[in-house]
Amino acid sequence: MTTLELMDYDDVVARFDPVMGLEVHVELSTNTKMFCGCPTAFGAEPNTQVCPTCLGLPGSLPALNGAAVQSAIRIGLALNCSIAQWCRFARKNYFYPDMPKNFQTSQYDEPIAFDGFLDVTLEDGEVVRVGIERAHMEEDTGKSLHVGGATGRIHGADHSLLDYNRAGVPLIEIVTKPITGTGARAPEVARAYVTALRDLLKALDVSDVRMDQGSLRCDANLSLMAKDAAEFGTRTETKNVNSLRSVERAVRFEMTRQAALLASGGSITQETRHFDEATGHTSAGRRKETSEDYRYFPEPDLVPIAPSREWVEELRGTLPEMPWERRRRIQSDWGLSDAELRDLVNVGAVDLIAATADAGAPPAEARSWWVSYLAQQANSRGVELAELPITPAQVAAVIALVASGDLTKALAREVVDGVLAGEGEPADVVEKRGLKVVSDDSALYAAVDEALAAQPDVAAKIRDGKVAAAGAIVGAVMKATKGQADAKRVRELIIERCS
Ligand code: ADP
Ligand code: MG
Ligand code: ZN
Repeated sequence: MTTLELMDYDDVVARFDPVMGLEVHVELSTNTKMFCGCPTAFGAEPNTQVCPTCLGLPGSLPALNGAAVQSAIRIGLALNCSIAQWCRFARKNYFYPDMPKNFQTSQYDEPIAFDGFLDVTLEDGEVVRVGIERAHMEEDTGKSLHVGGATGRIHGADHSLLDYNRAGVPLIEIVTKPITGTGARAPEVARAYVTALRDLLKALDVSDVRMDQGSLRCDANLSLMAKDAAEFGTRTETKNVNSLRSVERAVRFEMTRQAALLASGGSITQETRHFDEATGHTSAGRRKETSEDYRYFPEPDLVPIAPSREWVEELRGTLPEMPWERRRRIQSDWGLSDAELRDLVNVGAVDLIAATADAGAPPAEARSWWVSYLAQQANSRGVELAELPITPAQVAAVIALVASGDLTKALAREVVDGVLAGEGEPADVVEKRGLKVVSDDSALYAAVDEALAAQPDVAAKIRDGKVAAAGAIVGAVMKATKGQADAKRVRELIIERCS
């Protein structure tokens, strides 16, 4: 086996210009499949959401899902694409066990949407315009489960199981034009593009956009051009990179691998590659087929789609506030500087803060919780803010308990810890951990008297008018009440007792 040669990243970008192409597959959250009435819910028992059509049984015929076409057009419009006056489906012919018809019904040279763009904001605020070549409709395949063997992959497996629940689920494939001129920032651009696309699809409410469940999947094409080259180099296509971080890592890795190969006089094979999360490396998959291999031909069982201009304009009217418009509105509503907004965006806090405010919290309070205490918690657990097991509504409930005087800030943090530890709703945690502020003066008087009795010299000083000495007694009372007293009220009671 030859050892893996990688070029230092700074050398790569000094000698080569990367060219990227990103293909994103998004599963639509329609109730039913693309060409039949089977449900699309994720996680059902294998082969319980199937029928003759999505199993490709003889005599079955497809019927197009109108809701999927509607989503496709809305996605196209949101990506600034032109919408086809007339387009068709084609058959992409190949054998694969998880594809029972032996062809995939897909759009080919007549996509429903084409020639658009998406503006992508990088972490430092630079905006990169990514061209969209097309967004086309197709159907998903089933899933193979390889049993036995260490890796769960087909090599070394004892046998394979097939689940056709996913076969025929509506997919939109969104393909970028070649992305050039991003240099050293190519991996970051790739990640930022997929993030922006995910946010857009979420705003459109057309998909769950769960990369971990496969409802958003990205293939990353990459090639390198020597600085003086006139034409694009040969690309590789790294398949199904299934997290945002992996998109960035996969692109970066391919840059260092291809550069080393090219610099040593080698050439790049056009092939698919597999990204390994554990090592951060890509490995060769299959040699890339050409479109001729698939013997595409127009699907004879479906009529062409000719969306009327009136319908397209009607759908344009259903587009929601776009993520970038929303960010601008939030910036002005919350009075944030560009840098403050960018920080919130970069830590993924904007939606969480907005949802917390929607649940009744003052935005400034909501922001303070998410960017300080909760951000620390996320950091120490090594997860994204949104992955913390606490909801915006729960954070709003904690904020409300502080506002009503039931909790101090310190107690509130303990309540949040309890929620994060799975102890239930904030009110349950307050109850179970006995965290309510002691606001009952008679209980506080008892604690104050006890503390004064325990430290007679300090008590004497306070009686002499040395009010500053009260701090020691306040501390003792807070300790005795496990922090559940309002320190200001305790101080008032001490002064009262000593005057
Ligand atoms: P395939 O059928 O091989 O998946 P697609 O046209 O669906 O091809 O997608 C190819 C992607 O790769 C597109 O995003 C395209 O812009 C991009 N691309 C094309 N040529 C190159 C190249 N030489 N280097 C990098 N990306 C490329
Ligand atoms: Mg493709
Ligand atoms: Zn079906």
